[in-house]
Amino acid sequence: MKYKAYTLRNFESIPQIQQYLSEEERHAIRVVGEVLPFKVNNFVVDELINWDNFEKDPMFLLTFPQKEMLSEEDFEAVSNALLRGAPKQEIQEIVRQIRFKLNPHPAGQLNKNTPEWNGVKLTGIQHKYRETVLFFPSHGQTCHAYCTFCFRWPQFIGDKELKFAMQEVELLIDYLRAHPEVTDVLFTGGDPMVMNIKRLEHYIGALLDAKLPNLRSIRIGSKALTYWPYRFLTDVDADAVLALFERVVNSGVELAFMAHFNHYVEVAHPDVQKALKRIIATGAQVRTQAPVMRGINDDPAIWRDMWKEQVKIGCIPYYMFVARDTGAQDYFAVTLADALDIYRKAFQQVSGLARTVRGPSMSATPGKVQILDILELEGEKVFALRFLQSRVPEWSGKLFFAKYNPNAIWLDDLEPAFGKERFFYEEEAPLSIETV
Ligand code: SF4
Repeated sequence: MKYKAYTLRNFESIPQIQQYLSEEERHAIRVVGEVLPFKVNNFVVDELINWDNFEKDPMFLLTFPQKEMLSEEDFEAVSNALLRGAPKQEIQEIVRQIRFKLNPHPAGQLNKNTPEWNGVKLTGIQHKYRETVLFFPSHGQTCHAYCTFCFRWPQFIGDKELKFAMQEVELLIDYLRAHPEVTDVLFTGGDPMVMNIKRLEHYIGALLDAKLPNLRSIRIGSKALTYWPYRFLTDVDADAVLALFERVVNSGVELAFMAHFNHYVEVAHPDVQKALKRIIATGAQVRTQAPVMRGINDDPAIWRDMWKEQVKIGCIPYYMFVARDTGAQDYFAVTLADALDIYRKAFQQVSGLARTVRGPSMSATPGKVQILDILELEGEKVFALRFLQSRVPEWSGKLFFAKYNPNAIWLDDLEPAFGKERFFYEEEAPLSIETV
């Protein structure tokens, strides 16, 4: 299959858009697509979306902007500007103001996670957890299609101030040499698998050649398996990519392919399964993760089927996340109580091999917080929570409690239980990279 991308510029040439969407629905895409990044491709359009039921189709909602993703006021502001043919600059200013309201860098990514090294701010590195460094290769800061919920959406809107990226792999290597506690490097983006083999070798090859004694795992965070499986099947450098994966494994460094699956329909596609088999044959591990989102996968049966199928084809279910506090969060939000219910019901219907999955988990400023249970303790209804990961390593695994709040959708909505004024982590340490 030959890759064809559709963006705001040309999406109206998609035959299904012409056939199924009204002018009002197309206008809504034009409006929201001005604010949130929009890109889809022919595989998603032709193979994954059921157009007969597009209004409710999870893959349509996942990739096409929806009117309700903006507040009514913001939608009207952009819509009016477009309809009256306002100058480009005026539209850009309206859009800029809306974007800043959408919390472009949640969980302290910009201020708390970006380290400095020899007086240089490493804008393409995030170091939040002691053992793991995230690297944002400059050439991997796009995706084969964009998810409408994406918490990395500022990476795609062409605003340099909001973007993480660097191409100086030597700086990454120097940083890793100076931080022997780091064992894992996660290539992320965007999607690193948009890079051609030359770029991938530039980054990954350099890391291997450096023979860092502390480097145990290279992880690649990617949605290419389901947005463009041909990256591993028929693209001109597909075989070379897989050979590079083998090279990593043969060097003694673990390769973990962190695959992003939002819905069963993705993992069930035969070409996705073929691509998965080829990746697993290189010796790489494939771990799977996704957020739970209203209208897309807020049903235990979807997760149950996804995890079962993933295990059947050799993947390791890894995380169920809670949709992050950025972008169109309100549109997708599932309450923490519902997220727990979905996780638990799905978890109860799979065998032990799929119970490697952890969730529901919030990647929040202090760390990854898992919702464990809703309990009555000392006469109070509470959420039992624990850190799966944290800025301060000693917090990991620690249990803590929040007052039950049926409407809470994020950690910020919670208050400490038992009359306490602060959560323990708010008392113990300032949240900065120096604490790790
Ligand atoms: S593929 Fe990943 S990085 Fe790209 S838009 Fe989707 S969630 Fe965001």
